[in-house]
Order: sequence, then structure tokens, then C-alpha cells
Amino acid sequence: MVDVSALIDSLPGPMVITDPSILSGYRQDRAADPNAGQPIALVRPLTTEDVQTAVRWCAASGVPLVTRGAGTSLSGGATAVDGAVMITTEKMRGIVVDTTTRTAVCRPGMLNVEVKAAAAAHGLWYPPDPSSFEICTIGGNAATNAGGLCCVKYGVTVDYVLGLEVVLADGRAVRLGGKQLKDSAGLSLTRLFVGSEGLLGIITEVTVRLLPPQAPACTVVGVFPSVTDASRAVLAVTGQTRPAMLEFMDNTSINAVEDMLNMGLHRDAGAMLIAQSDAPGPAGTVEIALIEEAFLAHGASEVFTTDDPDEGEAFTVARRAAIPAVERRGSLLLEDVGVPLPALPALVEGVARIAEANDVVIAVIAHAGDGNTHPLIVFDPNDDAETRRAQIAFDEVMGLAVAMGGTITGEHGVGRLKKGWLPAQLGADVMDLTATIKKALDPQGLLNPGVML
Ligand SMILES: Cc1cc2nc3c(=O)[nH]c(=O)nc-3n(C[C@H](O)[C@H](O)[C@H](O)COP(=O)(O)OP(=O)(O)OC[C@H]3O[C@@H](n4cnc5c(N)ncnc54)[C@H](O)[C@@H]3O)c2cc1C
Repeated sequence: MVDVSALIDSLPGPMVITDPSILSGYRQDRAADPNAGQPIALVRPLTTEDVQTAVRWCAASGVPLVTRGAGTSLSGGATAVDGAVMITTEKMRGIVVDTTTRTAVCRPGMLNVEVKAAAAAHGLWYPPDPSSFEICTIGGNAATNAGGLCCVKYGVTVDYVLGLEVVLADGRAVRLGGKQLKDSAGLSLTRLFVGSEGLLGIITEVTVRLLPPQAPACTVVGVFPSVTDASRAVLAVTGQTRPAMLEFMDNTSINAVEDMLNMGLHRDAGAMLIAQSDAPGPAGTVEIALIEEAFLAHGASEVFTTDDPDEGEAFTVARRAAIPAVERRGSLLLEDVGVPLPALPALVEGVARIAEANDVVIAVIAHAGDGNTHPLIVFDPNDDAETRRAQIAFDEVMGLAVAMGGTITGEHGVGRLKKGWLPAQLGADVMDLTATIKKALDPQGLLNPGVML
């Protein structure tokens, strides 16, 4: 057992915690990996210097280090490994908004919702909006390149990260990019660290680009007889315009949300699409008409349109509630597969076939306008046979997406749970390149071992 007293002595006050009852709360993230390890300590730094001290101690002691934001990872990226030090950014807080450059400099522990609120207080907008926006950190968003609902029009986290401060595996802190809106100097290292899942360094500051506030959105909800009709309607929309939101829920997820929120959703619908347009004036009218027509032309039995923001938000809330709602039916294996848009209908049909063949329930929600689906495989962990079938289905869904030229993860990251499928998607040469970059930046392999590689 490694002696952590030198680590405790090197940091102020109660910053290093070894109490097993507190450590146990940091072992797992939202993926609830049953194989999570036992950390030896938890560090709650306040400053970049605190992070550097902890990293230097880990490097000198050969101790693995797992960085954690809010622990909402759905791919096991923030799961503890045996003998590791966990570093949580939860106390690294603070944000400064600069209205001239339309940027915000954020400490990594700021929640996404707090970044949005700080921007809004200055009449600005931070767009990326993962469904977990109220509970996940901006550091975690940068580390996973998080997506969300408005990303179909406004892009994902990497499109907003202008600069980073990162503590490297040897304890040095580097600044990449900054408030400058254009920057071609050197390699695009800022982008390398976005989505690096805690493998290459610890993000201690994130500078994000802000936009003028979003115009009020008009919402169109379509009720469809089948997932195929709904996904074809998605293609009809994206082929003509770029809505501000285009989300998908299948029958199982609609019913799970209805059980939880009781808001009058159509329980017998095969699928539901929720679209939004924030195009101003006549352009918005044209876009809404186009979406309505596309829905009706692809079999929608009902199309409901509203420009009342509260009514529109109610449907968005329903979509965001889908994961916790389905989670009430059992344990989940959470997929995040994406395909080029034309393959979306074949993907949702294929997922239904996989569910049937393996006799498991798979609820499907999707950021459909991005071709990014979340098949949620429900299983009873006390039922060994069902657990095995769920695992087979989990593998088959990723295999299907890869076979269609898609990805095993559109936004949640590879983490520990999906890494077995990464070589199938990337191929040997790109895996080798990834490992070379990891080795160059973390020769001891101490940062978040077991993730991605
Ligand atoms: C109900 C629900 C809905 C969700 N919906 C979405 C969605 O719509 N879109 C989406 O993209 N995700 C979604 N997620 C997944 C999750 O919220 C995101 O992946 C989020 O970005 C993780 O942030 P976090 O602060 O919780 O990070 P954590 O879960 O703590 O960590 C995630 C990964 O980032 C690394 N990491 C965290 N902070 C840092 C740092 N400062 N420096 C270096 N590495 C770091 C960790 O090591 C880990 O690998 C959802 C999750 C839940 C529970």
C-alpha cells in the first residue's frame, strides 16, 4: 500500500481525503461500472498549483490518477481504478465573462448550467447543452467533447473551446489558445485535449466562445406510427434545412417518460420527433412549414406546433428526462452510436432487430438531426442470462454502427465501457497513432489508465 502522507502534507487543510466512506462516493460515475476499483485518496484542489502538486506526487510515486468532474459520465470514464488518486474539480470554481471578446474563462468545476447563466447575465449565450447540463461540469464537457440538443445547428463543445490550461502528466501547466478568436500558431493542441477523456492531462481552465442570445424558438412535435417513419422524416428535414433541435424518442422511452412525468404524451406512438426553429421572422415561418410538411409527408398522425416557450420547453424536458425515466425500469447499458444521416433509418431498424433477437428491451432516444442515437439496453443485473443477452446486444449495436460507417460514440466518449470496440472503428494504424500520442504525453501511463486504450 502506497503511503500518502507526503501527499497529505504537501497540500493545505483537508484537501486530501482517505476516509473510505467518502472515497466510496467517488468510485463510480453514472455508468455504475461494477468493476470500479478502490482509490487510495481523493484530492479536492482549489487551484492549478494544487493540481500540479498532486500530479507531481503521483508521477514521483508511480500512482495512477483519475480526473473527475461531476461524475455524470455514461461510459465509465471517471471510474476509479485500484490504487489510484482521484482528483475532483468540484471546488475549482469561478467564471469571468468578457463581453468585448464574447468569451468566458471558466474554472473546470463550473457546471454547464452555471456557464450558461453567467453568459446570460451579460446578454450572451453558451450553446452546448447536454441533457445533463444542470449536473455536469464544463471541464468534463471539454474532456468528453460533449454534445447536446442544440448541437445540430450550433455545434458541439469543441466548436466553442478557444483556450485551455492543462496540467500535464509531469506536473507542468501549459496554456493553449486563449481569448483570440483566430489562432494558427503551432499544432492544434487545444483541439487535441478536447475529448481526451483525462488521458493526456488535467484541464484546469477552459476559455469558451459565447454567442448573442438565441432567438425565441418555435417547436414542432410530430407523432409517428413507427421509428422508420420518424427517422425518414428526420432525413426529409435535414435534407432541406438545419433546425435548432431535432430530437427522437421511441415508444419505450415515450412511455417511460410518461410514467415519470405524466404529461399526456401519446403512449401508443411508435416514435415522436421534437424539432425547433429559432430562425427569425419570415425565415422561421418557412422553416416551421417545411418541418411540418416533412413530418406529415412521412406518416405523422399528429403534428403540434407552438411558439409558446413554456410549451416548447415541456417537450424538451420530456426528452431530457428520458435516460432517468428508462433507468427506473432496470439497469442500463447506454449506447451512444452515430451514423452518417442517410443510414439513420437502417440503424434504428437494426437496433429493433437486435432487441428482438436477444430478447431484451432497448429504448431508443436520439439527437436525430446529428444521426446520434442512444439505444438504452434495459436489464436486470440479478438475472445472469438477461445480463449476458444485454451485453451481446450492446456489442451488436456498436458493431452495427461501425459496419454502417458510423461511430461507437457520438458524444459520451469511449471511457472504459466502449474501448473494446474502438479498434474496430479506428483501425490498427489510428489506434497506434493514439497510443503514440498518449505515450509521448504520459510515458508512465498514469493518467486515467484503462480508458480508451
Ligand atoms: C441523464 C444524463 C444525460 C446526459 N446527456 C448527455 C448529452 O446530451 N450529451 C452529452 O455529451 N453527454 C451527456 N451525458 C453524459 C455526461 O453528462 C457528459 O459526458 C459530461 O460531459 C460529463 O461531465 P462531468 O463533469 O460529469 O465529467 P465526468 O463524468 O466526471 O468525467 C467524464 C470524463 O472526463 C474526464 N474529465 C472530467 N473533468 C476533467 C478535467 N477537468 N480534465 C481532464 N479530464 C476530465 C474524466 O476523467 C472522464 O474521462 C449525460 C449524462 C446523464 C447522466
